[in-house]
Formats: sequence, structure tokens, C-alpha cells
Amino acid sequence: MASVGSSRVPLIAGNWKMNLDHLQAIAFVQKLAWSLKDARHDFAKTEVAVFPPFTDLRSVQTLISADKLHLRFGAQDVSAHESGAYTGEISAAFLKTLDTPYVIIGHSERRTLHSESDEEVAAKVASAVKHGIVPVICVGETAEDLELHGPSAIPVAQLRAALSQAKFEREPGLTDIVVAYEPVWAIGSGQAATPEQAEQVAAQLRATLTEILGSDVADATRILYGGSVKSSNIAGFMRMPNVDGALVGGASLDIPEFASIAQFLKHVGT
Ligand code: PEP
Repeated sequence: MASVGSSRVPLIAGNWKMNLDHLQAIAFVQKLAWSLKDARHDFAKTEVAVFPPFTDLRSVQTLISADKLHLRFGAQDVSAHESGAYTGEISAAFLKTLDTPYVIIGHSERRTLHSESDEEVAAKVASAVKHGIVPVICVGETAEDLELHGPSAIPVAQLRAALSQAKFEREPGLTDIVVAYEPVWAIGSGQAATPEQAEQVAAQLRATLTEILGSDVADATRILYGGSVKSSNIAGFMRMPNVDGALVGGASLDIPEFASIAQFLKHVGT
């Protein structure tokens, strides 16, 4: 299993996409925290984070801090720019003032629906890193890519490109980036990759991290799988040596289901 024999604490991350306003977010986070408390969730063994829409972030941050919850949170996107005439955008500096630990960058919905290029993703990663926010860098191939190039070529190329502009002030720390392998054909389709498919690409992504950032950083970096993850299939992914967690879309909006995914250690045989 990924977390056994490695320093990597698994991360279960819920991408809410454009769901739940700030009032719904407060109720949701409270209930999720109670569910995990009832289940005696050990946050030292599995980190759990939610990624609400921008308008919820202040409420979620305040709740987590006031109630001393162990849940973490992140934004779903960030601007590549520092400030200025970029109507509708949110800078990494603004996210930092909310003590936002994480930001998803390069989600396939941003790449396809908003034509985000590899260069733009790289600039966003650079901005997050500059402001000390951990980018959750999403990479993944479409069904067409899979047929044309096989499973790893596009995710590996996207990861190389995404890291090409970031300037780590010191040697990148062990948890300064998270990579999420999300085959586009598996997102929201109900057709998850097999654990073996996820492992094959995750291993290639880790080899790429070793080449770019060195083996210490590569060994410590969490690589998540995303695409139709549910409580019924999480255990299979978490048994894979290079899969260190999941980026969960649809199932992250169902509290018992998401809590059960976060509790994967209870249903994964070691
Ligand atoms: C996602 O959007 O990142 C995702 C993995 O969605 P789903 O879990 O619904 O496939």
C-alpha cells in the first residue's frame, strides 16, 4: 500500500466544482467533520481536504480555524497573474491571505472548457509555488490520447510542462506539490481506470518527478488518482504503491460516501 514504508500521508481531496454556496458549505463542512469524528478518523494517517468554490473559501477557512477542525481546504483554480486588469480572476496572493493550503491547477475542465494551455498551467503553478500554496497539478489523457499515445505520454508531458516555470526558493520541500492523475475519460463517467492502469501512470509520473526534482522530493510527493472514485473502488487504488490518495469529484458531495472514501484504511487490507 502506498503509505506503508513511505513518508507519504495519503490525501483524500474533494473537488466540489461549482456546487454548494457559502451557507451550504458551512453546513456541509460541519457535518463532514462530525461524520469523521464519529468514525474516529485519524487525520495523521489520512489527510482530508475540500475544494469549494471561491465564494465559500472565507467561510470554510473561518469555520475550520474557529472550530479547530483537522480538515484542510483549497481553491479550484488561481490566476497566473499577481494583480491588475484581469477581470474575474483571483490571485495566489489573495488565496494566501486566506491561509489557503492548496489549489487545484490544470483540472481537465479548465483545460477543455476554458482552453487552458500547458503554458498557462505552468504560470499558475509558478504563482502558487511563489506564494507558498501547494498546487494540486492535474494531468491526464483523453480517450483519444489513450488510443494514439498510450496511457502515460500525455500525463508525463503535461507534468513536465507544468513544472517548467516554477521557481522553488529552496530545494522543493517534500510536500510542496501534489500531482493528480485524472484520465479525462474517467472523470464523471462512472468508468474509473483500473488500479493497475492508475499505478502504471503514477509510476511514470514519479519517475518524471525524480528526473526533474530528485528522488527525495519524488519519493515524498503525493500522487493522487482521480476519475469516478467511490467508496466501493477506493481500496483497490490505495493498495497500489504509487497511488497516495484520490481527487474525488461527484462522490465528494455526498457526506457519508466521501467520509467512507476518507476512511479507506478500514476497508483496505494491508
Ligand atoms: C474530478 O472532477 O476531478 C473528478 C475526479 O470527478 P469524478 O470523481 O466525479 O469523476
